[in-house]
Amino acid sequence: MTNKQLDNQYIANTYARFDIEIVSGKGSRVVDSNGKEYIDLATGIAVNTFGISDDEWISAVTEQLGKFQHTSNLYYSEPCISLARLLCEKTGAKKVFFGNSGAEANECAIKVARKWAQDTKGEGDYTIITLKNSFHGRTITTLKATGQDVFHTNFGPFPDGFAYAEANNIDSVREIVKSTKCCAIMMEMVQGEGGVLPLDKGFVAECVKIAQENDLLIIADEVQTGNGRTGTLYAYEQFDFTPDIVSTAKGLGGGLPIGATLLFEKVENTLGAGSHGSTFGGNPIACAGAVNIISRIDDELLEGVRVRSKYIFDTLSGAKGIKSVSGLGLMIGIETEKDSSEVLKACFEKGILPIKAKTKIRLLPALNIPMEDLKTAIEILKECVAD
Ligand SMILES: *Cc1c(COP(=O)(O)O)cnc(C)c1O
Repeated sequence: MTNKQLDNQYIANTYARFDIEIVSGKGSRVVDSNGKEYIDLATGIAVNTFGISDDEWISAVTEQLGKFQHTSNLYYSEPCISLARLLCEKTGAKKVFFGNSGAEANECAIKVARKWAQDTKGEGDYTIITLKNSFHGRTITTLKATGQDVFHTNFGPFPDGFAYAEANNIDSVREIVKSTKCCAIMMEMVQGEGGVLPLDKGFVAECVKIAQENDLLIIADEVQTGNGRTGTLYAYEQFDFTPDIVSTAKGLGGGLPIGATLLFEKVENTLGAGSHGSTFGGNPIACAGAVNIISRIDDELLEGVRVRSKYIFDTLSGAKGIKSVSGLGLMIGIETEKDSSEVLKACFEKGILPIKAKTKIRLLPALNIPMEDLKTAIEILKECVAD
């Protein structure tokens, strides 16, 4: 049987896979089981920050593999300490909790917000305002946090305590704050799965003001936008405020599973011993890789992200067959006149690998994709949307 047939037989039917099997790659080039080479514009959904099998990252990871692979959180271990320190020094966060995925990072953020409210406000102030069209994960609670009705079916009952405001409509936030006892506002600076839609700066600033006036926390879900993806280490920096909690994952590990919840001053001591935990959280291999990734996201790298982003926006905006280009940094959504599934099919045929976000084409290339590869890929994409 082929791998495709075996996959269909043995793997749960949760994924509608593209008909491509990746077998190898390097940097921004990947090769499928037929030996066909592609330029990768998706990095495994914003995960492979420096592309496939980056040499420096491999060294960091394999060096740790030769020491020890796991200890559990019963003991001290250096890689997760180094990573937490690095994240705190770069962001001003006070403490970090490590999990293994974006959903777990958000679960922790939600637990912290609720406990903070219990500690400081009282029992009933547990509601977290999230935004319509958001995406926060696949656990029962993060599904409920996700502001899309399609995610609120089949698996009920869901937990209470989420209210959905409209993105970029500050009155809808105010209405909830007036009518409901809340503890936090949670948002993605750029809604990723929702269609690569950045929030308005004015809206975010008003949310921050409302949070201050009403003693609410701000949770930034930077699972996708974080770790250099948008042209700053974290996207909130471009919205001129500091959140109380930041959740991140995807690109943090450069390809290994890790999630982090960054706790700023107000909530640094909200979680005490025994209040939360994870067996795998802060895994030494994943953390050693993440230290390498985060320490390389410097000004020069970020400038490179912004240059590449500008090139994509300049080249695609107004091009034939393109209705709109949205996003921030190297997280870009393209609305096409042609059906995006058709565009994707043409892209695969011509050797580039973008993905979709809702009905848009989504680009999430490696932050260091060689300019030559990016130019080639964008020319191919232009052809695919034009005819
Ligand atoms: C991908 C994503 C998640 C979920 O991350 P997992 O690692 O799949 O659990 C949560 N929030 C946002 C904004 C995401 O893009």
